[in-house]
Order: sequence, then C-alpha cells, then structure tokens
Amino acid sequence: MICKICGTEETDNPDGVCDDCKKRINALAKKIKNEKEKIFNNIRKEEVTAYIFLKTEFKKDNIISNYLFRFVFQSFYRLDGSGLSQEHKDRFFELLHEKQDNLSEILLELYKIKRRTKKGKHSVQFSFATKLLHTLDNDKPILDSNVNRVLKIGETKGEKRTERINSRVKQYTILQNIIQELLITPEIKKLKDDFRKKFNVDNTDISDVKVLDFILWSYGDLIK
Ligand SMILES: [Zn+2]
Repeated sequence: MICKICGTEETDNPDGVCDDCKKRINALAKKIKNEKEKIFNNIRKEEVTAYIFLKTEFKKDNIISNYLFRFVFQSFYRLDGSGLSQEHKDRFFELLHEKQDNLSEILLELYKIKRRTKKGKHSVQFSFATKLLHTLDNDKPILDSNVNRVLKIGETKGEKRTERINSRVKQYTILQNIIQELLITPEIKKLKDDFRKKFNVDNTDISDVKVLDFILWSYGDLIK
C-alpha cells in the first residue's frame, strides 16, 4: 500500500507507514525529548488549568450564552488578533454548539465569512477548525502555527475554494497519522508520563493527543 503519511512510498508495514516516515518521526521524537526541560518550562500551569476548565464547561452544553467559556476559549486558543471577525467567532461557536464535526463543512461555513482585515478576503480557517474538532473529540489533533513549525504539514493548496478545502481535509488525515505514530514512540510515551506527573493530570483530564499538543506547541514556540 501507499504510505499514509508521505503518500508516495510503497510499504508493507502493517500500520501503513513507510520506513522513511518512521525514521523521520523517530528522529523528531528524539529531538523533542532532548529539549524536555525547556519545553516543560515553557508550558504554564494556568494554561493546563484553562484547558481543563474549557473541557468541563463545554460539557454543560450552553456555550452560545456561556461568555466566560467563549472568553477563555478565545484567549487559550489565541483567536484574538488572528484576523478573524466577530462574525467568524459567532459562527464558530454556533458550529461548536451544533457539534459539527465534518471538517469540510466547517471550513466551508467559515470560508463564507470575510476576514476582518482591510481587503476582507475569504479564507480557509484550518487551524481554527481543528480547534473545533478537538473540542468535540479530544482525540483529534490541533494544528496551529507553532505545531506546524514542528510537523511541517504545509500551506493550503489550490486556487478554487473546493480545492483549497479538500487539500486541508487531506492534510488533516496526514496530521492524525503523524500524531498516532509519534504517540507510540518510546520518547513521546515517556514525555507524556512526565507531563502528567509534572502537571498532575490524568487521561480523563487531558487526552494523550492533547498532552502531545501541549508539548509540540511549546517546542514550536521555542524554535520560532
Ligand atoms: Zn512515508
């Protein structure tokens, strides 16, 4: 079969990931582990607490009128100053409330709204959409600029709206595959345990995928 990460190499490996990609992912895991101290020192306890707060509040199912949730969400996920209009944010919370978990639908809905900048262009809000998916399902990964600096998933490709959205949907599948591979490396397993000890959280508080996201985000922030 064709490797589910690079999409070019043939592989017989049972998990569908080619040896080259495995090598790259293992090397990355080692690199991350070597920076453990810096990575952990760059994660603030209040961020971890804010995340758990959001998770608890989201379960109450009243987010349209839960302005404290919205405020903390926007701050935690750094949505302010991202060129998003108020209309984007309102639509985002509606989609979250409706539990819309179809990535291309989310991207399409957000695409319809113009950005806040002077030119007011339409845009594919991929990072924003992954934050929605993660809130609905904590096993789904987030991609923002820090995480992308580490994983290098790439830019939106294509000219037409549909092409651009489809390119992101494909990239999201690749992202999920990379995250799964990273999670089974011994280095990331160890880091995950260390993270849980340091911040005193178990996997009902924060999923493995989100623990890894904290680590990737922090590492990406350090190599800026
Ligand atoms: Zn590959």
